[in-house]
Amino acid sequence: MDCCVPTNRKGTNKTNCPNCGQNGRHVPLITLKSLLKSAALATLDPECDYAFCPNPSCVTVYFELEGSLAFAVGDLKVPVFQKDSGLDVPVCYCFDWTRERIVQALRQGKDSLQEIKTHVQAGRCGCEVNNPQGACCMGNVAAFIRQVNGM
Ligand SMILES: [Zn+2]
Repeated sequence: MDCCVPTNRKGTNKTNCPNCGQNGRHVPLITLKSLLKSAALATLDPECDYAFCPNPSCVTVYFELEGSLAFAVGDLKVPVFQKDSGLDVPVCYCFDWTRERIVQALRQGKDSLQEIKTHVQAGRCGCEVNNPQGACCMGNVAAFIRQVNGM
């Protein structure tokens, strides 16, 4: 089997996590290179494409598309928002907005989402190397704020 099918590089393909079966999202290779611990990075096959498993109850974070290599939460240098409900876990990794900081800002009437949006629009964010999902955090921030406001 060829693990390096060019169509996988578009970011639109979906594939299932080998551990839980949920659809994964394609992540850029640079995300894995940036966030994997050295021991895990030493096993990375850079010729392959990888996907991110967003399932909160699954320990697998990244898995190889059309391959068997997988990386779990313990293989990353940072906690994974989707898989760790701790208050000290970042929602926005680039600007260090943890759940706790977002909640505090809300109590003070500050809009963390608007502040993050300003940075994103100014081209300051580096989600592909900071955020384990390899993509912009704003959807997660908006969802978390809705969740807090609904409590
Ligand atoms: Zn999974």
